[in-house]
Amino acid sequence: MTNIGVLGAGQLGRMLALAGYPLGHRFRFLDPASDSPAGLLADHLTLDYADTSALEQFVNGLDVVTYEFENVPVEVVRHLEKNVSVYPPSMALEKAQDRFVEKSFFQELGIPTPKFTINGLDNGFTDGNGFGFPAVLKTRRMGYDGKGQSIVHSQSEVESGLSKRTADELDLFILEEFILFDRELSIIAVRNKSGETKFYPLIENHHRDGILRLSLAIGNISAELQKQAENYAQRILSALDYVGVLTIEFFEKNGQLLANEMAPRVHNSGHWTIEGAITSQFENQVRAVCDAPLGSTNPLGVCAMVNLVGTLPDETSILKIEGAHLHLYDKAPRPKRKLGHITLVEKDMETLYQKLDLIRTVYDF
Ligand code: AMP
Repeated sequence: MTNIGVLGAGQLGRMLALAGYPLGHRFRFLDPASDSPAGLLADHLTLDYADTSALEQFVNGLDVVTYEFENVPVEVVRHLEKNVSVYPPSMALEKAQDRFVEKSFFQELGIPTPKFTINGLDNGFTDGNGFGFPAVLKTRRMGYDGKGQSIVHSQSEVESGLSKRTADELDLFILEEFILFDRELSIIAVRNKSGETKFYPLIENHHRDGILRLSLAIGNISAELQKQAENYAQRILSALDYVGVLTIEFFEKNGQLLANEMAPRVHNSGHWTIEGAITSQFENQVRAVCDAPLGSTNPLGVCAMVNLVGTLPDETSILKIEGAHLHLYDKAPRPKRKLGHITLVEKDMETLYQKLDLIRTVYDF
């Protein structure tokens, strides 16, 4: 039995605890929000991350700490690391929290990315950067699910996107080449403290308004592409002496992968693994941070995951669909909020697509 502390008590934390309880572990969460999805399942401290005495209270009696939210302040993790093992390492958080640092890190490791710049208005952010327009203007920090980003088509659009900013704030943005990608893919890797490493198959992801709506793990990935993704993931795991689950999101273009971002945690595009893989990403995260042997990442069929965003479907209609697994996060509906998901695991593509069509009759995704 291991006492596991988790920073953040959202749906990812909730699913982590649900995977860890059968292994006999105990969980304690720290999250400033009182109505968090994991709060009902375990000990939950509703305290601020910046509160040092709260951190002492949180860490007391814990064997290991992990996080389910990548915007946990790095200083908090550093502070905790003095008293307890924290996985993934704080260096992973530091890299992932800033898009410029992250993309520069990918490039140092020889992992291709879209072209990018952080030059200010005076000397950059123009089509003179070599990648032209359209381009994507993003905040370097705190952006997720498409928040803090916009597509810009001209220099004047860049300027109006930045117009409310002071000169000091201009380097808080990154401008990226707009990639007309063939597909969006993600790989989920996991490594334990002893260095044992496993990879899930590349997942195909479909977004709307920057938010993930549908993930497919349907075996439509060539061995070569899978090898390329695993090789890139391995470089990051080794460079960071990583422990835990790591997700990397890629754009696929002409058979090549360009890394967009990484998440040092379990990921929405891996929710299908709860029913669809021999061992879920959540169980493997628990195993990794407890330095247990990792479970098989092999899929059990062709799988799909439909995100429930902003609104919920009629529960009965979903549960009537044979094989549909409904997961609800106990969150109040709000536009763009992830409220739950549905997983399908089928033997063949025809049945999988028939079931997705059935879901579509009751829920738009
Ligand atoms: P991000 O917050 O970086 O994950 O971006 C959210 C979504 O916006 C991605 O999943 C893509 O669909 C789209 N996107 C982000 N960056 C780019 C880019 N450089 N080129 C084309 N689409 C992008």
